[in-house]
Amino acid sequence: MNDSPLVYDLSPDDLAGILVEWGEPAYRARQVLHALYRELVDEPSAMTSLPLKLRTRMEKHLRFRALVPRTSTESSDKNTRKVLFSMASGHSIEAVLMRYARRYTACISTQAGCGMGCVFCATGQMGFQRNLTSGEIVAQVLFFARALSTEGQHLTNVVVMGMGEPFHNYEATMQAIDCLGDPEGFNFGARRVTVSTVGLIPMIERFAAELRQVNLAVSLHAATDELRDQLLPVNRRYPLAPLIEACGNYVRQTGRRVSFEWALIAGVNDGADQAQALVKLVKGLTCHVNLIPLNPTSGFTGTATSQVQANAFARILAEAGVTCTIRSRRGIEIDAGCGQLAVKGDVRGRAAVTSGGETRPV
Ligand code: SAH
Ligand code: SF4
Repeated sequence: MNDSPLVYDLSPDDLAGILVEWGEPAYRARQVLHALYRELVDEPSAMTSLPLKLRTRMEKHLRFRALVPRTSTESSDKNTRKVLFSMASGHSIEAVLMRYARRYTACISTQAGCGMGCVFCATGQMGFQRNLTSGEIVAQVLFFARALSTEGQHLTNVVVMGMGEPFHNYEATMQAIDCLGDPEGFNFGARRVTVSTVGLIPMIERFAAELRQVNLAVSLHAATDELRDQLLPVNRRYPLAPLIEACGNYVRQTGRRVSFEWALIAGVNDGADQAQALVKLVKGLTCHVNLIPLNPTSGFTGTATSQVQANAFARILAEAGVTCTIRSRRGIEIDAGCGQLAVKGDVRGRAAVTSGGETRPV
């Protein structure tokens, strides 16, 4: 493995420091950043505005390939594309590009696997492998931005809802969002980014105190501790009352709303009792509830709520003044829906992607 620094892990100051040390003029760093984040160039040899000697030196001493795309799977309507990447460490991750109306949304990963153990989640079923670096998180976004630019399109949104718990890899996640937001670079405003957390209270508090423009989603899935303990083991450490209090403080501190995610599981958390308990829990809070019929995963026997039941659940919320939407089930035929990302087979990139869509090597 090439252990040179990954160029996407370097801050503008880090990069400038290296280039100055190499005897380059001060403006070089800006040229390189422009090539990386504006022109979306992914190898020094293509940075033709730079002197050949510098390109060769960068090739030798910096790493430009964070992720190697292995397979790409597209849904039959072509609106969802899942890409399996391998990393230099031998671990693999997946990321998804969704086209919807005029929006292009990248769903990206922050960890290989996840240690939070939510019972219905394919990534949770894999266990924790490792944290991604900020550069590995950034590289997923750039990969899709590059692909879209060849079609004359741009990424409009990023959701940090792929593999892993972003608040369990807080620094790298925020560093990645800051890097993508650099007005001199990729210039992707934090308002277009949503981070979803399983509910790690100390990190929600930190996130609130930092007054970021990033949107916050919290995975709730149950409105009583008894049920949430079973579905999301993290609830035993961070139960509902203090979690909702932390969300309330977030709303007060930032003036922003919080979203709650709720995967509807037939006969488990889709009844009137849970809907009413949810109303009680969040009433008065500036929030929005996203209802997602459960996506199937191999390690969990629960099934998705019917449309009728989902509507009935949504009606209870709406009648009590809690705004909510039922999210469409996109990407599930290619295992690209929420909670379905899991690297199957050999983690060194020879993984088999089983899906209903078309899989091709890339
Ligand atoms: N770790 C973070 C973000 C990644 S998961 C979190 O848990 O919030 C993104 C969303 O997908 C979360 O709301 C998660 O609870 C949900 N999810 C996980 N498995 C799912 C499944 N099988 N069906 C529907 N949603 C699921
Ligand atoms: Fe991890 Fe989120 Fe999956 Fe839970 S739902 S196991 S926190 S990725």
